[in-house]
Amino acid sequence: MATADLTSAAPERTALMPFVNEPFIDFTAAENKRAMEAALANVESMLGREYDMVIGGRRLKTGDKIISTNPARPAQVVGIHQCAEAGLAEEAVAAALAAFPAWSRTSAAERAALLFRAADLIRQRKFEFCAWLIFEVGKNWTEADADVGETIDFLEFYGREALRLDATVPPIQFPGERNQLRYIPLGVGAVIPPWNFPFAIMAGMTAAAIVCGNTVILKPSVDAPTIAARFLSILEEAGLPDGVVNLCPGEGPDFGSAIVAHPQTRFIAFTGSKAVGLEIHESAARTRPGQKFIKRTILEMGGKDAIIVEADANLDAAIEGVVASAFGFNGQKCSACSRAIINAGIYDIFCDRLRERIRQIETGDPTKNIYTGPVISEKAFKKVLDYIEIGKTEARLLSGGETIKTPDGGYYIQPTVFVDVSPTARIAQEEIFGPVLAVIKSESFEQSLAIANNTEYGLTGSVFSSSREKLDRAREEFHVGNLYFNRKSTGAMVGAHPFGGFNMSGTDSKAGGPDYLLLFTQAKSIGEKIGYASETAE
Ligand code: NAD
Repeated sequence: MATADLTSAAPERTALMPFVNEPFIDFTAAENKRAMEAALANVESMLGREYDMVIGGRRLKTGDKIISTNPARPAQVVGIHQCAEAGLAEEAVAAALAAFPAWSRTSAAERAALLFRAADLIRQRKFEFCAWLIFEVGKNWTEADADVGETIDFLEFYGREALRLDATVPPIQFPGERNQLRYIPLGVGAVIPPWNFPFAIMAGMTAAAIVCGNTVILKPSVDAPTIAARFLSILEEAGLPDGVVNLCPGEGPDFGSAIVAHPQTRFIAFTGSKAVGLEIHESAARTRPGQKFIKRTILEMGGKDAIIVEADANLDAAIEGVVASAFGFNGQKCSACSRAIINAGIYDIFCDRLRERIRQIETGDPTKNIYTGPVISEKAFKKVLDYIEIGKTEARLLSGGETIKTPDGGYYIQPTVFVDVSPTARIAQEEIFGPVLAVIKSESFEQSLAIANNTEYGLTGSVFSSSREKLDRAREEFHVGNLYFNRKSTGAMVGAHPFGGFNMSGTDSKAGGPDYLLLFTQAKSIGEKIGYASETAE
């Protein structure tokens, strides 16, 4: 990637280095462990504060509140937030519209510099942000660090991408003309993130939108509004002008659907479930009175991701890959492995080894950095337990299946594995979004690929095999947006693994990739006949 001089826009950086992923924190190092414990104590002392809604730079309070709690200790309030009702959509869109003319004409270098300053500020407070994620959504330290690191990566990556788009290569020059292609912003957008990567996805979609010159209404998930409020403070500290990001926590079906439907919302950047994504898609397609454009939707949705393990695979690596993908953050990742498709030749040994490996997984308080913590909410807890009951009628329970009771009443569920699952069983078809893995036996690689492709989703997938021929075949036939070989199906890295799914997994937006910012822009082609105007402005 080219280096660009940002001296004037970001005095703290003299030249832009090529993008590299933020390194992970080594929590086995004593100083990092101490820093994390200190950050947890510091953040714990800030829990329960009230946060304002911010529209056009104005701090607002509403009568109704959203109470964000710690899923490991539901009585512990993480943050108290305002609750935007549908009626506030008008005000929020008006504020974003008012900020648009100036922001859309701010140079790409200045907009990128804002992202770089925000990245620097987050980097300086990495442990603190990890602590917020640990308290608000129950991530362990490593998962929290991955979320914070990905946030920094998105800011750094999209800043560079905006500069690259701005310096775009001119089109073919038609004889006698000067031809130009410029990527201009769309207008006002609704940014609607999920709770499971409440920092990276929330900040990533917001940053991509604003670095292109759009202004947005950010409606965080009701399960993770605190991290969004903290992000807004960072943007403000980095120099965000009023009205460019309007922070409006609110209920999805109420305020969320109102901003989607608003006739002046030009685009919707959404990440979440299939059902909500499809609803947004339909609503956005409807033209309302006063609307002058076709809305654009960028929709990233659920998954039912599979890992295929062949008899010729390194079994140790396959077991580790399946366990990390299925139970990392309790399976609450869109990329989580929820189906392991195992060749019949190693099926029994794989299941035995898997059961042994799962016995070593500890579940408990994320502040203590235990491998798996609680699921996000009581609603999720009930949903996962319902699926476990369905699983008991459809397949054989290999391990888990029970809740774990703690004095604090956290939403803990054991890592659960069902074996001998039919490929068409509900637990092999529907997204559970919890610590439940379906193991399916397959007689051949051909059958494994057919099983893997036989859901309505198409997000991530992995193949463990030592056969080049099989990997090459999977490259062609395994129909997912993010395909991996001999590694886990989770853990996409910004830049290296542009992320987005096929079919009902979404619009394949490829977040963290070179095509992503194009979704937040429209290209304007300008052709000027030479010789009719002075060459420079007078
Ligand atoms: P969700 O669909 O319940 O909610 C996502 C967001 O949509 C929230 O902010 C919510 O308030 C809002 N919302 C809900 N109803 C709405 C409506 N009618 N109109 C407008 N907005 C509405 O999803 P979730 O539980 O927050 O997240 C989990 C889901 O997200 C899973 O399905 C997971 O696979 C998916 N996910 C996908 C990706 C990806 O990149 N494909 C990444 C992370 C999570």
